Amino acid sequence: MKIERVEVLLLRIPLIIPFYFSGGVVDVKEAVLVKLFSQGLVGYGEGSGLSVPIYLPEYTYETYLVAKNFIAPLVIGKSFDSVEDFVASYSFIKGHNYAKTAAETAFWHLLSQKYEEPLWKLLGGTKSDIGVGESLGIYNFIEDLLEKVAVCLDEGYKRITIKIKPGWDIEPVSAIRDHFGDITLMVDANSAYTLSHLPLFRELDCFGLMMIEQPLAYDDIVDHSTLQREIETPVCLDESILSAENARKAIEIGACRIINIKPGRVGGLLESKRIHDLCASKGVGIYCGGLFETTIGKFFNLSVSSLSNYVYPADMSPATLLFKEDLVRYPLKVHNGFMSLPDSLEQFSIDEAQVERFTVERVMIMP
Ligand code: MG
Repeated sequence: MKIERVEVLLLRIPLIIPFYFSGGVVDVKEAVLVKLFSQGLVGYGEGSGLSVPIYLPEYTYETYLVAKNFIAPLVIGKSFDSVEDFVASYSFIKGHNYAKTAAETAFWHLLSQKYEEPLWKLLGGTKSDIGVGESLGIYNFIEDLLEKVAVCLDEGYKRITIKIKPGWDIEPVSAIRDHFGDITLMVDANSAYTLSHLPLFRELDCFGLMMIEQPLAYDDIVDHSTLQREIETPVCLDESILSAENARKAIEIGACRIINIKPGRVGGLLESKRIHDLCASKGVGIYCGGLFETTIGKFFNLSVSSLSNYVYPADMSPATLLFKEDLVRYPLKVHNGFMSLPDSLEQFSIDEAQVERFTVERVMIMP
């Protein structure tokens, strides 16, 4: 497919409720959309991430700059037969996985339209109903957290994640176990601890958690390997895994038993598939996480979650719970703990007026 034009857009969408976690607070969603124009079709992609560098070093405005200044000039005016060819055209760029994801998902969207096949089928997915869980931030009061957990359980979410940090760990976990018994519960520390907290992890080990996600440094696998040897609860890696190569090394040294794949973090759906295949061959379970994507990005995340080794519920809730407005005509919804992937292309319909409304910067790149 020949890429005739590329448009890169920066959007700012207010969040309904600010999201607090161990690294800070996010109250506005900045999203980068890439639009690829080819043979009368328009493919939309999203580069997800946070507007400040508190999850990974990359932040949204940087994503916007890299997408327009470096990736777009490399693909404009060229023809690509496959996603592999498309990705190879910019693969020498180091890092900037959100920007790469914005471009690659736009190309997948083009392909999906060209072959008139829903994306999840094009990716080789085996299920159209994806079990989902909810991730809850750090609250000021235990009572507020318990109230929110109750709402999530009523809505059928299949797993509850709570964010933890030193001072907010044993107490909320213990309170949830006391109130809700043996629900499927996990914690995500976003790198808030070190190996010096081993006694605390031994305590957490007694709560039957599904996993402890990214307890140690965002760029570490060695200390995670030490920790995993010391505790029974599976360690899940998130921030540390930026590629299939990272995943191979982490698995080889026993740094995790589970990997949270966020397509935005690893640079797209192709790399997500590579990590999926590697984990399947090594007996490592995976689940799909998210980075506050709009429904456009969520749609891509959900599509790749249809692959067979996504054995744990995806971290996915409707965008309408996070953002004051949505960018699609048919929002993703949760029914009994599942989100359903569309069987037709028409059900992934982008509301261009809404996209325009929230666009604060844009550039069109022509050959
Ligand atoms: Mg995480």
